[in-house]
Amino acid sequence: MTYCDAHNHLAAPALASHVPAIIPALTAAGVTHIVVNGTEESDWPTVAKLAADHTAKHPALHLTPSYGLHPWDTGNRSSDWLKTLRHYLETDPLAAVGEIGLDRWMLERARPDDPRLAGLRRAPLDEQHDIFQTQLALAVGLDRPATIHCIDAFGLLLETLQAVPLPSRGFLLHAYSGSVELVAPFVALGAYFSFNGAYLAPRHARLRALYQTIPLERLLIETDAPAMLAPPEYAPLALATAPELNHPANLAATYDALARLREIPLPTLTAQVAANYSRLFLRA
Ligand SMILES: [Zn+2]
Repeated sequence: MTYCDAHNHLAAPALASHVPAIIPALTAAGVTHIVVNGTEESDWPTVAKLAADHTAKHPALHLTPSYGLHPWDTGNRSSDWLKTLRHYLETDPLAAVGEIGLDRWMLERARPDDPRLAGLRRAPLDEQHDIFQTQLALAVGLDRPATIHCIDAFGLLLETLQAVPLPSRGFLLHAYSGSVELVAPFVALGAYFSFNGAYLAPRHARLRALYQTIPLERLLIETDAPAMLAPPEYAPLALATAPELNHPANLAATYDALARLREIPLPTLTAQVAANYSRLFLRA
C-alpha cells in the first residue's frame, strides 16, 4: 500500500523524542508520503531539519515540508515573521505553504483555560484575515500549494478565496468541517478535503455523511498527529509514554474506515488518494 498523510505535525515539540520510532512505524504501516506542517516561527527550523535529515536517511518515506503561521499562533508572531517565512519557502522549492487559516472557534467557543491555547494571544478575526491573505499571496507568488485550517469561519473563508488569486496547484481544506452546501463552491476554486480519523467518533455522524459527498478526485486523508486522536478502535498504535497523542501511523486504520464509508475497495481509494496527493503536493 502507498498511504499518504496529507497533514501532520511531525515537528511538534511533543513528538520530538518519538520521531526515531515513528519513522520505521510509518514505513511498516505502508505510509509512503507525508506533509509535515509548521505552525509558528519556533517550529519552522524543526520542519526544515526533519526534511533535510530525512530525505537522505529514509528514501522509502517522502516528506514534504510546509511552512505557515497558524491562526492560533498569529497573535504571537514576531515583526520578522514574513521575512523568515519567505526565507524557508525560497530555500526549498518543494516546500508548501501551511498551516494557515481562519479560526472563529478560538475567539467565541474555546474555553479561556483551554490548554492548547495557553500563552497565546488570540488574534481577532480581522487580524487573522490579514495574515491569512498575506500567506496565501505568498503561496501564489511562489507557486506553492497551501494548507488551510478553518473552524467556524467558512463563509468568510469562501468569500476571501473568491476574491483573491489562488495557488494554481490548488489548496487543502484540512479536516474540513463546513457544510455540504459549501463543498461545490470550494471545489470550483480548487479545493481538496482531507478526512481525519477523529471524525470516526460516534458524535461526528454529520462529518461522515459530509465526507460521503466529497468528489473522489478531491479527497485526501490525514492524521493531524499528534492532534486529533481517533476513537480507540481506529487508533491501534500509541506512542510510548504519551498515549494521549495521535500516532501518525494510525493513518492506515483511517484508510480502512474511509474505504468502508465510501463503499469502495481499499486499493481503489488508495490509488485515488495517491493521485490526488501527487497532483496537489508533488512536482512532476
Ligand atoms: Zn494541523
